Amino acid sequence: STMPPLLSALANAGRHGVLAKSAVVMERLGRIDAVALDKTGTLTEGSPHVTDIRPVPGSGTDEETLLRLAAAAEHRSEHPLGRAVVAAARARGLDLAEAAGFSSVPGRGVTATVGDRTVRVGSPAHLLPGADGAGAEGIVRELEDAGRTAVLVVVDGTSAGVLGVTDRLRPDAAATVAALTRLTGTPPALLTGDNAPAAARLAAEVGVTDVRAGLLPEEKVAAVREWEEQGRAVLVVGDGVNDAPALAAAHTGVAMGRAGSDLALETADAVVVRDELGTVPAVVRLSRAARRLVL
Ligand code: ADP
Ligand code: MG
Repeated sequence: STMPPLLSALANAGRHGVLAKSAVVMERLGRIDAVALDKTGTLTEGSPHVTDIRPVPGSGTDEETLLRLAAAAEHRSEHPLGRAVVAAARARGLDLAEAAGFSSVPGRGVTATVGDRTVRVGSPAHLLPGADGAGAEGIVRELEDAGRTAVLVVVDGTSAGVLGVTDRLRPDAAATVAALTRLTGTPPALLTGDNAPAAARLAAEVGVTDVRAGLLPEEKVAAVREWEEQGRAVLVVGDGVNDAPALAAAHTGVAMGRAGSDLALETADAVVVRDELGTVPAVVRLSRAARRLVL
């Protein structure tokens, strides 16, 4: 027997490496006319590495201590930046102290107790205003101007240092942006919690002009809602816990499977399992073809 078009599109999407959760998702994907992409883990590979370890001069912290405290605090983090910090400490053979009372706030960072110290690791935009001590701000600016993601480490309320992190662009990022632009008539927007200079640099490399940086998870949702209120059917592609609310608010949410957080995978309508961003426009194309057969 012949399969209904949407079911056969779902099977085809599977062959492309995209797992749609139902045939209805294929129908919805066929309607999208705007796209919002997350940066870290979506346009980039999601396996960032630490490139700079910069203690604040005069803080009494050295490189090794800075990295060890940060890694202990990030030990249980599932954020790509957290994993990068832990990997950097392991690569240097550092002993990771046991942390207690771990908590994480999506889009901001983590807090944990390491020994008798409270360690916060995360976004400078959110941590700097509440931290004592001078010197960190200049390092943050220097690293961000160089296109890095700056991760601030605050120990017992005082800025102890900054880690510079960088991630490779996916090889098919620019081609995917071009394909999505052709499909919707508008270049995709970039929604990121990362800093503006890093976001702008990457956007220019892939051909994105609408860049929203420094966004908290609920601000990603607000951006998506704004477009939906203008009558657009928005496809959101993301990977993180911080993307989950936007994936849920979007007309259709697609999560990157390999480095994606459990929450993003559960919330999304479809999951890219083959870890190739280029499968997203391919699957939009076959959803459109299937819809034409149904209607
Ligand atoms: P994106 O939207 O680009 O995927 P996120 O919203 O996940 O980025 O993170 C935004 C910013 O919050 C990061 O650039 C980083 O500064 C900070 N951050 C979030 N979680 C962590 C963490 N576990 N460790 C360090 N920094 C973090
Ligand atoms: Mg992300």
